[in-house]
Amino acid sequence: MKKSFQRPSRPSRKKKSARKPLRNRSRATSEDKGEEAAASASATRQTTAYLKKLFSEVGFAIDTKKGQNFLVDLNLLDLLERSAEIQPDDIVLEVGSGTAALTERLARAAFRVVTIEIDSRLATLAQDRLVDADNVRLVNTDVLARKNKLSADVLSALDEAEQERLTAGKEGRFLLVANLPYCVATPVISNLILSRPFASATVTVQYEMAERMTATAGHHSYNALSVWIGSQCRSEIIRILPPAVFWPRPKVDSAIVRLDLQEHRRSQILDLPRFHTFLRNIFCHRRKVLRGVLISLAGGKKNPEAVARIDMIYEKFNLERNIRAESIDPDTFVKIEREFSLP
Ligand code: SAM
Repeated sequence: MKKSFQRPSRPSRKKKSARKPLRNRSRATSEDKGEEAAASASATRQTTAYLKKLFSEVGFAIDTKKGQNFLVDLNLLDLLERSAEIQPDDIVLEVGSGTAALTERLARAAFRVVTIEIDSRLATLAQDRLVDADNVRLVNTDVLARKNKLSADVLSALDEAEQERLTAGKEGRFLLVANLPYCVATPVISNLILSRPFASATVTVQYEMAERMTATAGHHSYNALSVWIGSQCRSEIIRILPPAVFWPRPKVDSAIVRLDLQEHRRSQILDLPRFHTFLRNIFCHRRKVLRGVLISLAGGKKNPEAVARIDMIYEKFNLERNIRAESIDPDTFVKIEREFSLP
């Protein structure tokens, strides 16, 4: 029989008032600091044994369909955090709080952290662990309202964090830092770039997705996501992660990827939603000759004006008539779409 969900017992926990908020550690005395460093080190030690004990105490059964693979390698949690280069005035979005092992690190580095967890039992565990982190807002919801839309609650939590930062007279960046659940990784990244652009994203994703995120034209993984990202971001795979660094182990490798938004390239895209839809339409037929796909998007051969326009685009950008979408680089796609969509 399934155990009912219970909060973990915390016999050794000090009273709330006896602990410094996570963000204010620098103001602690050296004695406090030593004590807190020890507390922090033990609190962040998310090992397989720790998770097994915690989950069995509260009767939590992992749901792998929700991408519940927890990072159990401390060095890699460090690497993920370090690679994000969080500054004290930054607002960080984390998707998938889990038990808050990464969240509490983010909280120490950032101005505000908005962390999202779909599973209410994990949200309870994370909230317990974050009780002293006064700069974290945990939202227990699905990050997506639907496939191509971020949750309104997530957006309003980010708005609030930005308002608080403004009120504090600070300026910082908006970053995504997360061990992303594989099931929503693509829509989360795509939709953020579309409607709530981050300055940078440092995330763990399945290796196959990391390849798609960073692929250049001609690579076997090159697809609509590669062009969408490649037209606006610099991207880099920072580290390939074997299954053993997660518990439970996923079936495939993962990777830490960093994306840096490049404003000067993003500003070349006249209409972001239109470009996004264009890429999706084109890459439904990535192996077909692009000219045919464009002609059919423009209404088919029965539309001679559209065919003439497409031929003019080919001439202007010096494209071979039989070129396929998979061989065209992101910046050329931006130019083609601009000309193609001219009224
Ligand atoms: N951050 C933790 C860590 O690094 O160990 C957990 C990461 S785990 C890969 C992904 C987390 O995302 C899980 O806690 C899962 O419940 C949560 N999750 C899955 N789908 C989600 C969704 N649609 N919206 C918000 N959270 C989701």
